[in-house]
Amino acid sequence: AKDAGGTRMQFFSAEMSVETKNRMALELDLREALERGEFVLHYQPRICLDDDSPCGVEALIRWNHPSKGLVPPNVFIPIAETTGLICKIGNWVLRQACEDVQRLIDRLGTDLVLSVNVSPVQLRSPTLCGEVRQALQAAGMDTHRLELELTESGLIEDTDTSQQLLRELGDIGVRLAIDDFGTGYAGIAYLRQYPIDVVKLDRAFLCPTPKADGCLDFIRAVTEMCHSLGMRVVAEGVEDADMLRQLLRSDCDEAQGYLFAQPMPLAKLGDYIIDRQAS
Ligand code: C2E
Ligand code: CA
Ligand code: CA
Ligand code: CA
Repeated sequence: AKDAGGTRMQFFSAEMSVETKNRMALELDLREALERGEFVLHYQPRICLDDDSPCGVEALIRWNHPSKGLVPPNVFIPIAETTGLICKIGNWVLRQACEDVQRLIDRLGTDLVLSVNVSPVQLRSPTLCGEVRQALQAAGMDTHRLELELTESGLIEDTDTSQQLLRELGDIGVRLAIDDFGTGYAGIAYLRQYPIDVVKLDRAFLCPTPKADGCLDFIRAVTEMCHSLGMRVVAEGVEDADMLRQLLRSDCDEAQGYLFAQPMPLAKLGDYIIDRQAS
């Protein structure tokens, strides 16, 4: 890493702030991370509330940096987005996740949905749909098993490309989910505009205590609206039994969070699913 640091110095000038330098150094490392095989995927189970069984997994990327250790996605995804690297990284995530999860499905004979996060930047790329098809084909995965998690900000940009892309993806049978629902400034009109199949309620929706005022009514109302539009509802960030108890009194379909499991490496996921199904 020492010689790499030497070549790097020429990019940095004395006037730059420490923060800018750190970011630029990280950006340079990020450019090589894919080739060096430094990314890993962890998977967090999604639990179906009607029968308490794992019915899906979300792929979450981590960067195993040679000197910094595990860098969380909140740190490097924004850099990958501004540099455009997110398209290559996102394509790697798609391919790797489809391959991993299809192998698991083949081995366990279970019915799982795989959800993959898609950046708004990827939604502006006309090649995304083809990449999705290729990832599915290479893994031998059925189209309906793949769910793409989009954010509201990706949808409100509303370019012709993203409009068309979403329609194409819907047409080939990939499921579309809205991530962090209710935290953006998108309004809700887009729920009718696009072929959305799943809404993921952000943690902020959950009831912190059983007595939190009107909280359950609110979840019920949102869930009812989503169901009337034909969409499933997933609650994210469920951390304790109280939160779950409240959810069970709503009509929410699935839950995900530390109460059930932390995101884990693929090697552990199989055991988790077997244990959870048996109990
Ligand atoms: P997200 O898509 O909303 O993912 C959920 C985040 O909440 C994950 O953080 C997860 O580990 C965490 N989480 C899960 N259960 C709980 C819980 O019970 N309580 C709390 N407080 N947190 C919980 P993570 O893995 O650090 O990912 C952060 C964000 O980075 C993701 O938020 C997503 O926006 C982004 N991200 C992760 N992987 C990818 C990827 O492959 N592509 C893109 N474009 N973005 C990704
Ligand atoms: Ca997500
Ligand atoms: Ca659909
Ligand atoms: Ca989320």
